[in-house]
Amino acid sequence: MTTNGRLLNYINGQWVEAQATEYLPVRNPATAQVLAHVPLSTAQDVDKAVAAGQKAFHDWRRTPVVERVQPLYRLKRLLEAHRDELARLITNECGKTYEESQGELQRAIENVEVACGAPSLMQGFNNEDIARGIDEHCIRQPLGVVAAITPFNFPGMVPLWFLPYAVATGNCFILKPSEKTPMTMQRIFQLMEEAGFPPGVVQLVNGAKDAVDALLDHPDIRAISFVGSTPVARYVYERAARAGKRVQAQGGAKNPLVIMPDADMEMTVRVVADSAFGNAGQRCLAASVGITVGEARNLFVEAFVDAAASRKVGYGLDPGVEMGPVISAESKARIEKLIALGESEGATVLLDGRNKTVKGYEDGYFIFPTILDHVPPESQIAHTEIFGPVFSLMHAETIEEAIALVNNRKYGNMASIFTSSGASARKFRYEVNAGNVGINIGVAAPMAFYPFSGWRESFFGVLHAQGMHGIEFYTETKVVIERWPREWTRKF
Ligand code: NAD
Repeated sequence: MTTNGRLLNYINGQWVEAQATEYLPVRNPATAQVLAHVPLSTAQDVDKAVAAGQKAFHDWRRTPVVERVQPLYRLKRLLEAHRDELARLITNECGKTYEESQGELQRAIENVEVACGAPSLMQGFNNEDIARGIDEHCIRQPLGVVAAITPFNFPGMVPLWFLPYAVATGNCFILKPSEKTPMTMQRIFQLMEEAGFPPGVVQLVNGAKDAVDALLDHPDIRAISFVGSTPVARYVYERAARAGKRVQAQGGAKNPLVIMPDADMEMTVRVVADSAFGNAGQRCLAASVGITVGEARNLFVEAFVDAAASRKVGYGLDPGVEMGPVISAESKARIEKLIALGESEGATVLLDGRNKTVKGYEDGYFIFPTILDHVPPESQIAHTEIFGPVFSLMHAETIEEAIALVNNRKYGNMASIFTSSGASARKFRYEVNAGNVGINIGVAAPMAFYPFSGWRESFFGVLHAQGMHGIEFYTETKVVIERWPREWTRKF
C-alpha cells in the first residue's frame, strides 16, 4: 500500500506509484506526527484510471446486477471484520474519538447494505397497450465512468455515500479522497480488492486540485459527485457542468437550532452539546448557532456552558476522551481568528477554548469548546462556517422571530427545533429553509435509505447522495416504445 511511506494509487486492479513530483505529509492532528506522504497525482494518473475504467465498463455493465452486488456483500463483511482497525485509522488521521470513528463506519456500512438492494432499486417500469398493440418501458442504464471527490472529515463514510450505488448500478468508479485524510481509503481499497471487484471497476487516485481538475475536465467521465466546502462545491459544479457532466455537489453549512422554553432542557443541553462539539465541530451537520426563544435563554445557557466546559478534550484513542483536535495547524489558526472576529463584532465570549494544551499532546491542534453569546444576526461571524468547536448564541422573543433568523442565511444543510409542542414543531418543519430537519434531534443525519438533502448553498444539483437519489444519479433512463404487429407472429 505504501512505498517508503508514500501512499499509492489503485488503478486497474494494481497498487501503483503516482506520476507525482509533489507529496504532502499526512499528520495525526493530535500529535502532529507524520503518518505518511500523499502524492499529488497528475492528469496522466487520472487518464490511466479513466482508460482502465472505460475498458472495465464493457463487461461490468453486462454483469447481471445480482452478480454485481456480490462484492458489496463481501465488502460489508470485511468492513465489519476490520472495524476496530479502521476506526483507529480514522482517529489517527482525522482526530475524532474512537467512538465517533466507529459511528462513522456504521453509517458507511449501511450505505453498502442499501446499495445491495440494487436488483430491486434500479428496476424500471412499463405499460402494456399505451396505444393498441404498443407497449412502453422505462429502463435504467449505467452512465459509464464516474468519479467522486471527498472531504477530510468523514474519510470512511463520505466515499461510501457514492461508491456502492455507482458500482451496483453498473458504473466504474474513481475516488479522489481528501489529501488530508487519505489513509482510511487506502485500507478500504485493500479490502475492496479482497472483496473481488474486477480490475478497473473501483479505482483510487490520490491528490488535490490538479487531480480534481483533470477529473472535472475529462471527456470520458460522465458524472461527478463532490462533498466539501461551498466555494469548491460551486467551482466543481460549474466546471464539471461546462464539461457536460452530471453533477451533485454538497457544500458547507452553518446549522441553526431553535430552543423553545417548553423543551426538555436536560436532554436539549446534552444533545446540543454533542452536536456542537462532536467531531470537534467538524461535521457538516454540527449545531453552529443556538437561538433561544423567550424564557429558554435562562433555562439553557448556563447549563450548556457547564456541559461544554466539562467536555474532556484529548487524543481520540485515549479512554474517556470526548473531543479530539481540529484537522491541522492552519485550521486551528483560522478558527482562532474567527473567534477574535466574533469578539470584535460585538459577541461576548462565554467560554474561551483558545490557548489551551492537552498534557502529553502539546503539539496537537486542539481548540477547546468555545461559546459566543449575543452574536449580532447580521455580523460576519453569524454567517461564516467556522468548522470547529465554536457555538454561537442568539436570542429571540417568538418562534416567528426565531424562524426568521433560521431562514436569514445562505446555507440550508440542517435546522433543528427543541420543543414539546407539536404545533411549534410542525410550524418549524413547514417553514424552515433547510433540507435536513431535526425535531428534538441534534444531528439530523439521514439514514442511508434517505437522501442527504442539503438546500441552498449547501448543495448544488438535483439528486443528492444516498438511497434512491444515488441510484437515480448513477443511471440514465431509457424509454422504449415497441410495436409487434400481430401478422408478424409466427404460427407454429
Ligand atoms: P474542501 O472543500 O477544502 O475539500 C474537499 C475536496 O475538494 C478535497 O478532496 C480537496 O482535495 C478538493 N479541493 C479543495 N480545494 C480545491 C480546489 N481549489 N480545486 C479543486 N479541488 C479542491 O473541504 P474540506 O476542508 O476537506 O472539508 C470540510 C468542508 O466539507 C466543510 O465546508 C463541510 O461543511 C463540508 N462537508 C459537507 C458535507 C455535506 O454533506 N454537505 C459533508 C461533509 C463535509
